[in-house]
Amino acid sequence: MNEKVGIISKVAGPLIVAKNMQDVQMYDVVRVSEKRLIGEVIELRGDRASIQVYEETAGLGPGEPVYFTNEPLSVDLAPGLISGIFDGIQRPLDVIERQAGDRIPLGIDIPKLNYEKEWEYKSVVKVGDYVTGGDVLGEVQETSAVLHKIMLSPKLSGKVTWIYNGTAKITDVVCKIQNEKGEELNITMLQKWPVRRPRPYFEKLPPRAPMVTGQRVIDMLFPIAIGGVAAIPGPFGSGKTVVQHQLAKWADADIIVYVGCGERGNEMTDVLNEFPKLKDPKTGKSLMERTVLIANTSNMPVAAREASIYTGITIAEYYRDMGYRVAIMADSTSRWAEALREMSGRLEEMPGEEGYPAYLGSRLAEFYERAGLVKCLGKDNRIGAISAIGAVSPPGGDTSEPVSQATLRIVKVFWGLSSNLAYRRHFPAIDWLTSYSLYQEDLNEYFDQNIKKDWSELVAKTIAILQEEANLNEIVRLVGIDSLEFKDRLTLECARSIREDFLHQNAFDEVDTYTSLNKQYGILKTIHIWYNRGQEALLKNASFSKITNMKVLEYIGRMKYVHEEDFSEHLSKVQSMLEQEYQDILRGDVDA
Ligand code: ADP
Ligand code: MG
Repeated sequence: MNEKVGIISKVAGPLIVAKNMQDVQMYDVVRVSEKRLIGEVIELRGDRASIQVYEETAGLGPGEPVYFTNEPLSVDLAPGLISGIFDGIQRPLDVIERQAGDRIPLGIDIPKLNYEKEWEYKSVVKVGDYVTGGDVLGEVQETSAVLHKIMLSPKLSGKVTWIYNGTAKITDVVCKIQNEKGEELNITMLQKWPVRRPRPYFEKLPPRAPMVTGQRVIDMLFPIAIGGVAAIPGPFGSGKTVVQHQLAKWADADIIVYVGCGERGNEMTDVLNEFPKLKDPKTGKSLMERTVLIANTSNMPVAAREASIYTGITIAEYYRDMGYRVAIMADSTSRWAEALREMSGRLEEMPGEEGYPAYLGSRLAEFYERAGLVKCLGKDNRIGAISAIGAVSPPGGDTSEPVSQATLRIVKVFWGLSSNLAYRRHFPAIDWLTSYSLYQEDLNEYFDQNIKKDWSELVAKTIAILQEEANLNEIVRLVGIDSLEFKDRLTLECARSIREDFLHQNAFDEVDTYTSLNKQYGILKTIHIWYNRGQEALLKNASFSKITNMKVLEYIGRMKYVHEEDFSEHLSKVQSMLEQEYQDILRGDVDA
């Protein structure tokens, strides 16, 4: 313990002001009072420091000591992260619960990762190799789904003088290198990294490929790129959490980092109970085999929420650096912003809009900017990615409020949830009229080249029909459906089919929960074939009601429930049935 101590001069909820603090630095961790509560220095003025305390401060008062650690708020990066359930400052909730029950004891000193566990370490370098920051030194099979690459810390380089193969704890030396100064460095599997400092990479690359999610409205209408950033704003009950869970389960990512800032107290408990039970559809094992969970339980002070997204993104960067595609979900960033607002208020900073600090936007940007597709450090040209998806829960669902607005200026994909759609039980309630993806243009090229050559054309036509539906509904409201020509009424029917048979997707249906790109395309294409052939038939004076009562429509409606392996056979059946029925209609009308 350092003998230099600060002295508390003021306690304001989770914020503590202490004097005699000239020897600390911004973002240093300190231990507050004899209870040794964990705090972080968030403002320094002369010898006075403002400290954000991550534990309950009730009972503290002026005059009590503040102990320095002279270390920034950091995370432990090593095997053992995956499957872990941590709080906002990486305290292992599962371990604490086993030792102490629901409530985290104050000032608890517990290792962030398991320091006792033995891992099977395999060196991938040889004595004599020259290694620089980011180079992979060895490997550990962390879980059945994740091969953990032990990388040289970004700042180090040198010649390998000793290697190890066999079981080791994360603090055991597994490699030695001699640096340029001739010093021998002991390398362990454990790296510590300050959460507020982005981990370095070689180069950022523009996102090019889609992160396939199996969610039809997302993949086809508003796709997100691997390394992309998206926001899901929506009022309470509109389906933000369900979308985030669907992405965690299904998104084409190697690693999931799920940061839960619960809206309600019991929501986080739900996450903690449910996630370990979720099956990874790709492996059939627990989803936790490739997931890191960060949770702010309701009995934790708000300040830990503020730290949680930095803890989450730092862990995400670490796996990105191994060359993995990581997806990070934050549910919800509004709760995080409220923590920011509360601390700002206590710091007596000049409030901006609705009491949020003026730096709300830049803090949000700092978080999302840590996402992206990158060329990693290290000589094997690894490409890694972080895709970031933040839920936003504006009060009353009104996205004109500061957190939504600041988020929209940063993210490239906007999946706007509509309370109206949710009320009509159209899920996912992603509003096709207000949502957008700025990746669409780049991704269209990918889809056209790799999936179907008329993918983007089909998508454009779909969006046009849905917009036309909105216009036509306006007319119907004014003058009634009978005033519409049959061709417009057919457009309305097509839009209905797009909404009900394609966009609507039940997350809880065994088959419907995930749709491959080929199947997505197949369903949508069939709807369009029906529509285009219908318009042609109308021109040949076919009966409108026959077209809209075709038997094939029922089959189109059930396509989404057809198993992937049966789909292509089913698709050709439906399409030939469609042709047959049109021929019958046209022949019948001519005969009549
Ligand atoms: P939010 O997080 O926005 O408050 P939730 O994600 O908890 O909302 O969703 C509220 C409810 O809406 C869910 O419990 C579920 O019943 C329903 N729901 C949302 N999305 C879907 C979906 N894709 N499929 C089926 N039901 C859904
Ligand atoms: Mg929710």
